[in-house]
Amino acid sequence: MRFDVLTLFPESLDNFLNESIIGRAREKGIISVNAVNIRDYSLDKHRKVDDYPYGGGAGMVMTPQPIYDAWEHLVKQSTKKPYTVYMSPQGKVLTQGIANRLKDEEHLIILCGHYEGVDERVIEEIVDEEISIGDYVLTGGELPAMVLIDCISRLIDGVLSSEESYLNESHYNGLLEFPHYTRPPEYKGKKVPDILLSGHHANIEKWRYLMMLERTKAKRPDMFEIYKNENEEKVLEAYGLLPKKRKRRKAGEKDVGTKGTTGLSDVPEKY
Ligand code: SAM
Repeated sequence: MRFDVLTLFPESLDNFLNESIIGRAREKGIISVNAVNIRDYSLDKHRKVDDYPYGGGAGMVMTPQPIYDAWEHLVKQSTKKPYTVYMSPQGKVLTQGIANRLKDEEHLIILCGHYEGVDERVIEEIVDEEISIGDYVLTGGELPAMVLIDCISRLIDGVLSSEESYLNESHYNGLLEFPHYTRPPEYKGKKVPDILLSGHHANIEKWRYLMMLERTKAKRPDMFEIYKNENEEKVLEAYGLLPKKRKRRKAGEKDVGTKGTTGLSDVPEKY
């Protein structure tokens, strides 16, 4: 997958691009990430890229010409029209679901704003989607662009090794991940849960799933609510609350339910 980041501060991405998982993925050629300096496309004799806002007010606004020309240059290099995202506090808040959808794009262009933001006309002209990394305002779109690239890249085949697989990770399936432990087996009087030392993989898997449910319920009740409604049987089974199979009713017989049948509201509160 190819990422092009339109920015006034290309150097701010240097470390991110060369370090760790993203650096290795670039070396392996699984992803390519290029920071494109918008200023290089300015037709102004002083290479200006911003100007005062019409109507007055504080701050400067990024002018449309250099952004459009930089974008057009990138588009001409692609056989298929790239998908263009503007990092903006006014966009949809980034979720795992959005990252999962965007990982299927071949070529993503990410526009980073600065100052007061970007002239509205160039947003209308080139942007397919605005994405925010949260309901707060940062000084520029570079950190948000790095967040987006990181989040998408780790979902692309070959970027993570199997040990680092994202399949159980928080948010991937609508739950938070189970707790992790490593050596030593006891630290500050706290022991690693026995089950993790048991070597019984099936039981460990069950325990981990239960932990995912418990953590999500405690830390993100909003997520738990959605998950349990969409995965009723699985949740009940994990808590040992799945009713025995109902007997087939004879014609005319009333359904009185199975004795001890429990709805999801019966999931113990402590979970
Ligand atoms: N005046 C703009 C507003 O109130 O909507 C905010 C501009 S902000 C100071 C400058 C740039 O930082 C934005 O153009 C955007 O690219 C980036 N930015 C700031 N906060 C962001 C966020 N939460 N998510 C994504 N990008 C953000």
